[in-house]
Amino acid sequence: MKAEILAIGTELLGATRLDTNSLELTRELAALGMEVVAKHVLPDRTADLAASIAAATARVPLVICTGGLGPTEDDRTRDAAALALGCSLLRDPVAEAWIRNFFAQRQRAMPPANLRQADRLASAEWLPNTTGTAPGQWCPTPSGWLALLPGPPREMRHVFHNALRPRLRALAPPHAFFTSVLCLASVSESDVDAVAAPLYRVCDNPETTILATGEPQIELHFRASASTLAAAQALADGLAQQVERQLIAALGDVVISHQSEPLASAVGRRLAARGQTLAVAESCTGGLLGARLTDSPGASEFFLGGVISYSNSAKVDLLGVSPELLDSDGAVSAACAEAMAEGVRRRFAADWGLAVTGIAGPSGATPSKPVGMVYIGLAAAGQPPKHLHLALHGDRDRIRRFSAQRALHELFRHLR
Ligand code: ATP
Repeated sequence: MKAEILAIGTELLGATRLDTNSLELTRELAALGMEVVAKHVLPDRTADLAASIAAATARVPLVICTGGLGPTEDDRTRDAAALALGCSLLRDPVAEAWIRNFFAQRQRAMPPANLRQADRLASAEWLPNTTGTAPGQWCPTPSGWLALLPGPPREMRHVFHNALRPRLRALAPPHAFFTSVLCLASVSESDVDAVAAPLYRVCDNPETTILATGEPQIELHFRASASTLAAAQALADGLAQQVERQLIAALGDVVISHQSEPLASAVGRRLAARGQTLAVAESCTGGLLGARLTDSPGASEFFLGGVISYSNSAKVDLLGVSPELLDSDGAVSAACAEAMAEGVRRRFAADWGLAVTGIAGPSGATPSKPVGMVYIGLAAAGQPPKHLHLALHGDRDRIRRFSAQRALHELFRHLR
């Protein structure tokens, strides 16, 4: 069922108040299998509101308004809804009694204006509100239903859960949702889209969303709906598996998880499963790798520690990189990355050593070593160390974040 939400209140059009009610309602409606196709933020002007309510109720079977049910002159939602639906407003003695009782219980005098809140659309039922004085209303329209909810989020939530949701459940056919996730590293959103779009574009159910996270990682969400959970899962997993096969064929080993999970946590999971340990040596990332690895609880199971070897002397003294190697190849070099990885592995007696050295900029570049030149070193016990060369672009922050992520991905690939 399609729905529109009207968030009513002149203050919501200013620069300080956000319409959060419609976010909450959208989530709740989605859980009921209802799709929000439009949201509107509207001022407290009766004629404009009436026109918007009339237009929305003509477009979709469910319209939910929040706000403007208070007692004051600028609370116009009741009048506007009556105009839009061409029905009258009646002062309801039952609601009048609720409102008087609300004040009596709090030992407060009731301002006469509050009785406006007992005005009900002639064809509406009340949606009771025990957290405030503005009850909601539930009213048939020529093509469906109109719900009026109070604006304060706490009251809106209360009325929705206790009075509106049961009515919506009765309208909605039974529906289940399932979302399958593919979490990807070392690829761009456009690369992923080029491979995945031909598969998902032809498919309404599941719906596919591509999200880029700050790590940087890409997540593909496949959200399916069906009459049972098993059927929804089969649909979502089916498309996810098809897309995964295509991505691997086109882009290589880029899928790191089947849930929303930072790469560092996926690396940790693999290391812990193998009972292996890791130590890191960082130059241009300055501790970012260590921070990522220790973001998730349980890192002590696999992460032994790290060295931020920013200066050459730290590389020599703490990691055993040879001064001759630094003279001949420089600190930003394949040989240095490998020596740092092997050095830190030995220093911590770890199974794996992972190192990053590079030029994050904006200064420090030379013609042969430009900003964004980064080497990842990877060392494993009993094997010669390896390296990966990266030519990254962007500012210092981006280069450092991408370096850490690519280093983790390199290790992840070796843990398969
Ligand atoms: P009241 O009896 O409090 O007047 P009401 O239904 O008339 O209830 P409004 O006066 O429109 O509600 O809003 C009261 C307060 O609720 C606003 O000042 C604002 O802080 C909050 N509010 C209203 N609408 C929203 C919304 N869509 N999202 C978040 N907060 C809202």
